Amino acid sequence: AKSKGRDIYCIFTPDMYQQALKLLQLENDLKRAIERQEFLVYYQPIVCFETGKISGFEALVRWQHPSLGMVAPADFIPVAEETGLIAIIDTWVLQTACQQLRSWQQQAVIDPQISIGVNISVRLFSHPNLLEIIDQAWRDVNLNPRNLKLEITESAIMDNSEAATTILQILRESNIQLSIDDFGTGYSSLSYLHRFPVNTLKIDKSFVNCLEQSPRNIGLISSIISLAHKMEMKAIAEGIETSEQLTVLRELGCDFGQGYYFSQPLDANSALELLALNHKW
Ligand code: C2E
Ligand code: CA
Ligand code: CA
Ligand code: CA
Repeated sequence: AKSKGRDIYCIFTPDMYQQALKLLQLENDLKRAIERQEFLVYYQPIVCFETGKISGFEALVRWQHPSLGMVAPADFIPVAEETGLIAIIDTWVLQTACQQLRSWQQQAVIDPQISIGVNISVRLFSHPNLLEIIDQAWRDVNLNPRNLKLEITESAIMDNSEAATTILQILRESNIQLSIDDFGTGYSSLSYLHRFPVNTLKIDKSFVNCLEQSPRNIGLISSIISLAHKMEMKAIAEGIETSEQLTVLRELGCDFGQGYYFSQPLDANSALELLALNHKW
């Protein structure tokens, strides 16, 4: 039995033991994966509704495990968050994504506006060297910071909202773009929004999923979009899977969209090929 403080005991069951072992194993695997560079970055296009064309990509990490194959973020990000390893992974994804976009710009004729979105975990956002890490990522490869977009969740910002405001301001002053990711699923305290100098609200896919199911769902999304616009921000809807969803979102005045309807996340080569097709949705 394990003491959880005075008088409270919790039985450490064989089940929990197995689970703890699994976690430890995963943590060790992750450490090794970082050393051996088993991670990959996939790129999912983001489509501008005004032009119908790709306006950028979101960088999404993948783990190419030697025996398990491709592991999805949902299966290792929580452990990486808990152990702090996520800050190392995020930094690598950030550097790789900046490098990739710069390399596309140099090897192909791509629209200079094409941006790359990178997820910043709570851990990295509160890292003492956050600003240096970000600065170095775009400077190292000579990328215009306007092409870099950081996706930050409400919880990362709300954990320490005063420090967060300062950090966001500094990032905006260096022309980096900022999105609030999974908007509406976190603390959702609207009172802070006006203080944060962000460019975009990303409407979570859980709202987009059930879009067609009721007028209330449409009302909710419509409100997020007008909220964004009234605060001089853009709205991106993620998780668009059907043409019906796309039609509704367009009618509601949403600015950008992302989802399987357009494309799954792709490896770098396939992403550039898709971009070169210059398809109009
Ligand atoms: P997210 O930031 O909300 O990213 C969007 C997720 O939705 C991605 O899952 C993407 O593949 C998936 N998705 C895109 N379109 C659709 C669609 O039409 N339908 C459905 N059902 N899903 C769609 P993914 O790549 O598995 O990543 C899951 C989460 O893991 C991400 O959610 C993000 O929170 C986290 N993540 C991924 N890469 C990174 C990273 O490099 N750093 C950090 N800190 N987190 C990451
Ligand atoms: Ca994201
Ligand atoms: Ca998201
Ligand atoms: Ca999400």
